[in-house]
Amino acid sequence: MPNYNRRWNAWGHADSPYLTTLSEGGRQALGLLVGEATALPDATLETVLASVPSSRLPQHPLISTDADDRLRHARGQSLSDWIDLRSGDIDTFPDGVAFPKDSTEVRQLLDLAEQHDFDVIPYGGGTSVVGHINPLAGDRAVLTINLGDMNQMLAFDEESQLATFGAGTPGPVLEQLLKQRGYTLGHYPQSWELSTVGGWVASRSSGQQSLRYGRIEQMFAGGRIETLKGTMEIPAIPASSAGPDLREIFMGTEGRMGIVTEVKVRVTPLPQKETFHVAFLPNWQAGVSTLRSMAQQKLQLSMLRLSNLMETITMLYSSSDAEATAALNESMSAAGLDDNKVMLTFGVTGSEEQHSAALAQAKAVIAAAGGKLAPDAMGDHWAHGRFGAPYWRETLWEAGYAVDTMETAVNWDKVIDTVATIEAAIAQQAEAQNGKAHVYTHLSHVYGQGCSVYTTYIFTCRESFAATKAYWQQIKQAGAQATVDQGGTISHQHGVGFDHKTYLPNEKGELGIETLQHLLNLFDPDARMNPGKLLP
Ligand SMILES: Cc1cc2nc3c(=O)[nH]c(=O)nc-3n(C[C@H](O)[C@H](O)[C@H](O)COP(=O)(O)OP(=O)(O)OC[C@H]3O[C@@H](n4cnc5c(N)ncnc54)[C@H](O)[C@@H]3O)c2cc1C
Repeated sequence: MPNYNRRWNAWGHADSPYLTTLSEGGRQALGLLVGEATALPDATLETVLASVPSSRLPQHPLISTDADDRLRHARGQSLSDWIDLRSGDIDTFPDGVAFPKDSTEVRQLLDLAEQHDFDVIPYGGGTSVVGHINPLAGDRAVLTINLGDMNQMLAFDEESQLATFGAGTPGPVLEQLLKQRGYTLGHYPQSWELSTVGGWVASRSSGQQSLRYGRIEQMFAGGRIETLKGTMEIPAIPASSAGPDLREIFMGTEGRMGIVTEVKVRVTPLPQKETFHVAFLPNWQAGVSTLRSMAQQKLQLSMLRLSNLMETITMLYSSSDAEATAALNESMSAAGLDDNKVMLTFGVTGSEEQHSAALAQAKAVIAAAGGKLAPDAMGDHWAHGRFGAPYWRETLWEAGYAVDTMETAVNWDKVIDTVATIEAAIAQQAEAQNGKAHVYTHLSHVYGQGCSVYTTYIFTCRESFAATKAYWQQIKQAGAQATVDQGGTISHQHGVGFDHKTYLPNEKGELGIETLQHLLNLFDPDARMNPGKLLP
């Protein structure tokens, strides 16, 4: 069983250096922006454990029905999950949890599910933010299969630059195992600390440096999938025109088609040099057209992220070093960049020669757009804190504030309009409920055709957990509806799960949904693999 050095009702580890308390300045600023707030009281672990009902599963040596295991697999990491865990008001738990050691044990568990008529939820790191791994109420018992004990490198082919991992290998373990051989996968979702390679594949994840390394779709070369119909081996072939690609058919099935147990990924030698930088551009319009130009010129950068004005202001003024912010503003204003400036963060990764050529190109494009580079310390600061944002939710929550994010991807011709529309929908919905939301956005994951749009919103908790959840649900719905009305995907990287499934037909169409439904029926005619997720 994976060790639980991780909190049951919050993100990550209790001893994380990223855990902080909201500063007095931050509290005052939020008070002005969205109102004064009071923290809601947490339920205790003992109370919640006492509420776990008895299990409906048969006793089996591979299955734990321990209340603690069941609680720790009851919810993921969405804001709604967070509210359930913090309030202790959890209405569904898996009936048991299994921790298989290999594909054979996964197979045994799937056979058992058919024999005893129970449902199965595959579980990687449980970092889903869209209700992927939450059991739904129903007549059948539910077994969550945590792949966390399948966390080894199983094979390494240096000549072909292919590595095979157990599906439950989390980001830091995977990178450490590759680093020992001089390689990297380069897949860094913000949830990297806890999410797993199998989860990335099953939910079509995208990492912060997708510009260099690609999305998980480009990294996933093949592997072994256990389904209720039998085992499917997808060979790792460099490219193939032999009909539809089975990898594409599996990716994004979110545990509904089967369980990937072994994942073959394409790896890259460790770069000789990697640096991150921050620059400022004169305003949002100039920023977006510079970002587009960098993407379309195919500059060899490893990441690009453009913050809009409100995100820029929020980032600058939430810095604990007010003096450094004042000095930065002064030097930017001497270069003609006023209060409309927006922040561009970018990464440069590669051999010494590639690094210096790409950095020089990026600097030239930024200068031509009237922008200016910030001191190197700002890029270093981003790199050091890149996995810290999930802990920030707790910092705010402890002060009575809730934070959530929405993300999509649209073509370049729609970017500016989409950001404005989503932000307005969120802010207006908060106001319609007599509240206020602080909303800001960045663009990242850039492509020649368009980019992802990632919006964050902060609001005050209400008088109770239930009222806070209801308030959030209305805001989330307004933002999601605005997203699909703009022609954006309901998710560029977080997936569909439960929370986004009603929006899926907007993207897939009626026939598309029918196709997916038939495919899932083929593998799982009794709908026992993660039922109620992905498809409406
Ligand atoms: C703070 C935070 C930041 C995040 N940032 C990013 C980001 O930058 N980019 C991004 O892409 N996502 C991000 N996410 C979302 C989430 O981390 C991803 O969806 C991730 O891919 C989930 O991986 P996991 O191992 O935790 O899977 P889980 O959450 O455990 O499961 C996700 C889905 O995959 C299925 N699944 C898991 N493992 C398997 C398997 N072996 N076989 C079959 N099905 C399986 C589950 O049934 C479920 O439907 C973030 C989440 C959080 C909480």
